[in-house]
Amino acid sequence: MAKVVIKECNSYELNQLISKINNGIEILGGWNKYLRPGFKVLLKVNMIGPKSSDSAGVTHCEFVRALVRILKEQGCIVWIGDSSGGAIGGMAPTARSFKVTGYEKIALEEGAVIKNFDKEGVVEVKAESNSQEKMYLAKPLFDADVVINVPKFKTHSAAIYTGAVKNVFGCVPGLRKAKYHKMAPSPEDFGQVIVDIHRGAKFHLHIMDGVTAMQGEGPTAGEVYQANKILISEDPLALDTVAIHMLGMEIADVPILKTAQKRKLGESKLENIILKGDYESVPRLEKFKLPKRFRSSKKRNHKFLIKVIDFFQARPKVNRNKCRNCNVCVESCPVKAINIETKEIDYQKCIECMCCHELCMHKAVDLKNDKILARVATFFYNLVQR
Ligand code: SF4
Ligand code: SF4
Repeated sequence: MAKVVIKECNSYELNQLISKINNGIEILGGWNKYLRPGFKVLLKVNMIGPKSSDSAGVTHCEFVRALVRILKEQGCIVWIGDSSGGAIGGMAPTARSFKVTGYEKIALEEGAVIKNFDKEGVVEVKAESNSQEKMYLAKPLFDADVVINVPKFKTHSAAIYTGAVKNVFGCVPGLRKAKYHKMAPSPEDFGQVIVDIHRGAKFHLHIMDGVTAMQGEGPTAGEVYQANKILISEDPLALDTVAIHMLGMEIADVPILKTAQKRKLGESKLENIILKGDYESVPRLEKFKLPKRFRSSKKRNHKFLIKVIDFFQARPKVNRNKCRNCNVCVESCPVKAINIETKEIDYQKCIECMCCHELCMHKAVDLKNDKILARVATFFYNLVQR
């Protein structure tokens, strides 16, 4: 049976983080189960873009520092790696993200090595869901002896939630990510890509930074929520199953996890997961704000209202008052639907992947329901949900 450890942790104070993470790993069998002195260990962080650690948009840099210290203590060589989303000047902003997040400074101070996945070469792997499709994943994933996935606990405006399962998307280097968004615009189909990455590369452990989480319109434009949790597991789907139950959600509410469940990526039934650490049952995160697009699978009896809302789905719209004309959204849009001058979106072309909303570091892409009927339906839907 899959095990998930939940540790309560209320700050990014280094000694507290080290002791909580070490204690969690002890419960799973100890570091000796995974590591040997001299091993190269890759920390696959969540570095979606050039966001500060305090925004809750990325794995907090002090969380990464704690892991580097622990692993060095075990005699390992530590790498910190990822590839950011979006594009600026025809390139992913990965190098800048390593600076803004604080990882570069931490690597320097703690003696770790930065692995910019856009520059480290790739390894070709088979896409299990599509025999015609080849995937190219960052080479450090295959050069390392052990890969630890270090996701952030966040909502996602399109995918509803993002955690251990989805965090591996950054293993696809650079602008190639846009190709997958175009190829698989719906979250269910996108889930196939995500599961293919998990099958193509080996992730030995998943350690989630949920000390602060992101609520509302994540993964970058949401608000910080003090969740005080660290989740650890060898099974990414089991870890995410526990995390979404903390938010009162089920697998059926999160399309990528539904796909992961269908493809048997791991355990998705709460009753089959052994909970360890500080809780015997899943704790609830009270008053946690879910994204606007969330529709509870338990409330599907309000089908008519959902149909009206979905028909006029909330669409991305650039807020010119907040926009700084950086053009990240323009360059990142996989179908080139955003006008470079006016920032108007051509909704005939738009595939609603929400990359513009996700990658705008200035929170200038709003999700708007322009149609009156949709707004009225949303009002009644929210009313009956209470
Ligand atoms: S909407 Fe955001 S990403 Fe797009 S140009 Fe404006 S600031 Fe840049
Ligand atoms: S406009 Fe935004 S949501 Fe639409 S396809 Fe482009 S990036 Fe995706």
